[in-house]
Amino acid sequence: MTDYDVVIVGAGVAGLSAGIYGARSGLRTAVVEAGVPGGLAATAAWIENYPGFDYISGADLVQKFAEHAEKFAEIITGAHIDAIEGSGPFTIRSGGDSITAGAIILATGTKHRHLGVPGEDELHGKGVTYCATCDGFFFKDKKAYIIGGGNTAVMDAIYLKNIGVDITVVHRRDELRAEQALQTLLNEKQIPVIWNSQVKEITGDGKVDGLTLIDRVTSEETEHDVSGVFVAIGVLPSNDLAKQLGVGLDDFGFIKVNREMRTNVPLVYGAGDITGGLLQIVAGAAEGAIAAMSAFKDLQHPYWAEKSPQF
Ligand code: NAP
Repeated sequence: MTDYDVVIVGAGVAGLSAGIYGARSGLRTAVVEAGVPGGLAATAAWIENYPGFDYISGADLVQKFAEHAEKFAEIITGAHIDAIEGSGPFTIRSGGDSITAGAIILATGTKHRHLGVPGEDELHGKGVTYCATCDGFFFKDKKAYIIGGGNTAVMDAIYLKNIGVDITVVHRRDELRAEQALQTLLNEKQIPVIWNSQVKEITGDGKVDGLTLIDRVTSEETEHDVSGVFVAIGVLPSNDLAKQLGVGLDDFGFIKVNREMRTNVPLVYGAGDITGGLLQIVAGAAEGAIAAMSAFKDLQHPYWAEKSPQF
C-alpha cells in the first residue's frame, strides 16, 4: 500500500488542476511543491485570456486554483523533491523524508532563462530581476530596462510603466514576438523600444548602475545609466526529475507526452509548461486534468500502463 495513489510534483496551474481531478476521481492525491502554490502564472500582472475571467491578476487566479485544489487534494508546500526512485510504486524523497506513490505527474514547469552576460548573476537581486510584479515597486520613479520581446516582456513593461517606473524595452530584433493586443497597448502607453540590441554587460558596484548594449546591425556599443534590469527572455524547462526517471525529452528539454499526457515511462505523466507547446494557463489546466484522468485509468487497469508511448 503506497502513501498516495498519485503524487503531483509542482503546484502551478497544471499541478493544482491535476490535484483536483485526481482527488475527485477517488485517487489518494498529493500535490508537492518546493515553494508556495502558484508557479509562474502567479507572477503575471494581469490575465485577460483565461476563459471566465476577462481580467484577473495572476496572483488572484492561482489563489482560486489553490483554494479549489485544497478542498480535495493534499497540498504539501515547502518540500523540494530531491529524487524519485522506482518504477511504480515510486519513492519520492525530500530532505530526509520520503513518501510513496503509485503514479507520478510531473508538473514542474519552467524557470527563467538568463542572459548569461557579465554582471547578471553578481547583481541578481541588486537591480537585476526576473519578476516585474515581485520587484517592480522598488524601481518606482527610477529608470529601468526590460530585456525581451515576448508577451512577458511587453506585459511587464506595461505593468511597470503603470506603477511609475521609467521603463524601456530592449529587444534583439526589429519586431516583437508579443501578441498584437499587447503591442497595441505598448504603443498606446508610449513605452520606448530599443530595437536590434543585445545586452553585453550589466554594471554596478553592489547595485546596478548601468548596462552596455550592442546594436546588432551596426555593432555599435552604447552605455546606458539604469537602476534596474528586468530580464524577460523566456523560460527553460525544469526537467531534473524527468531526467532521473528516464522520461523522454525533446530537443529543448521539454517532456515528451502523447495526447493522454503519458510519457514513455509507465505511470509517469507530464502536464503544463514542462511539456512545452502552448505555454498558457488554459493549456496547463487542461493538461493537468488529462494527466490525472490517465493516471486514474492506468492505476485501475494496468493494461493502459503497458501502452506507454515509446519516445
Ligand atoms: P518568449 O515568448 O519565448 O519570448 C522570449 C523573448 O526573449 C523573445 O522576444 C526572444 O527574442 C527574446 N530572447 C530570447 N533569448 C534572448 C537572449 N539571449 N537575449 C535577448 N533576447 C532574448 O518568452 P515569454 O515572453 O517569457 O513567454 C513565455 C511563454 O509564456 C510564451 O509561450 C508566451 O506566449 C507565454 N505567455 C503568455 C502570456 C499571455 O498569454 N498573456 C503572458 C506571458 C507569457 P526573439 O523574439 O528574437 O526570439
